[in-house]
Amino acid sequence: MPATEMTARYRKLKDYWRGRFGGRVQKVSLHAGMTCPNRDGSLGTGGCAYCSNEAFTPAYCHSGDSLEEQIEQGLAFQARRYPRAVGFVGYLQAYTNTYGPLEKLVGIYETILGHPGLSGLVVGTRPDCLPDSLLDYLQAAATRKPVYVELGIESMEDATLARMNRGHSHAQAVEGIQRVAAHGLPVGAHFLVGFPGEVWTRFFERVDEINALPLHSIKVHQLHVFKGTPLARQYLDHPEAFDFPRVEDYFEQLAGWLARLRPDLYIDRLFGDAPLKYILNPSWGIRLDVLVARFDAWLEQRGVSQGCRHRRAS
Ligand code: SF4
Repeated sequence: MPATEMTARYRKLKDYWRGRFGGRVQKVSLHAGMTCPNRDGSLGTGGCAYCSNEAFTPAYCHSGDSLEEQIEQGLAFQARRYPRAVGFVGYLQAYTNTYGPLEKLVGIYETILGHPGLSGLVVGTRPDCLPDSLLDYLQAAATRKPVYVELGIESMEDATLARMNRGHSHAQAVEGIQRVAAHGLPVGAHFLVGFPGEVWTRFFERVDEINALPLHSIKVHQLHVFKGTPLARQYLDHPEAFDFPRVEDYFEQLAGWLARLRPDLYIDRLFGDAPLKYILNPSWGIRLDVLVARFDAWLEQRGVSQGCRHRRAS
């Protein structure tokens, strides 16, 4: 049995998709030519300090191609790579995929939802960019094919959000999560660990706040400093402000956090992965699949499972 399947010590989001479709489901990343209010001037122009949409976009996804072309190319690529996949879902990850005129957004979503090769839609966006009309549309669309919303929450510390130029507060992020969930849509949250000026273990201490949110899944991973970003400048000027976890320490914190995490929450990701050519800070130098397998084995050896020390809020 492959090491990655050795244990079910935490609830993997891929198993949610497997449960819905009866087998492996793979995302197909798509670039719909979106921008972002933190880049086009409506909220800011510099973007979030760490943001590199180039690094977030897989190599097979060519933003110059039409959406239809990207779907065909992405499906062909992923089908070759994952021959055992039984389904594929369109994934709008880079930029803010709920920002723009509703009519234009609906056209993009409909192209994805209407494609016979795609079984669902995952929409990545900011938590402060969720108009009611758009959520109403997504709620209705979800009756035809699964629709999943992924929100970039990044940090629960307002000071960090401000330093990273996110342009929203944590309270706004919580409200965004609640509004998506109130529309009956599964909502995932993305967090980064290791921002400068923030003790990296702090995220793991606030597990009870995560448990209290109406989240369906969570994605957390170590921060990468991508070349050419404002964060890269900060790193070059003040490397002492950055405290990157050692892999063993990250495992330790992650395990303690998982133990206290709500057992019904799905885990989308626990480790970051990006091409090394984009990353400025020292890398752990371990391939993602190896890292996941090592962590799974580490949990197994210690008998730690998601929720094993979870206490229901009274
Ligand atoms: S991370 Fe998202 S919100 Fe921030 S600048 Fe990049 S695309 Fe915009």
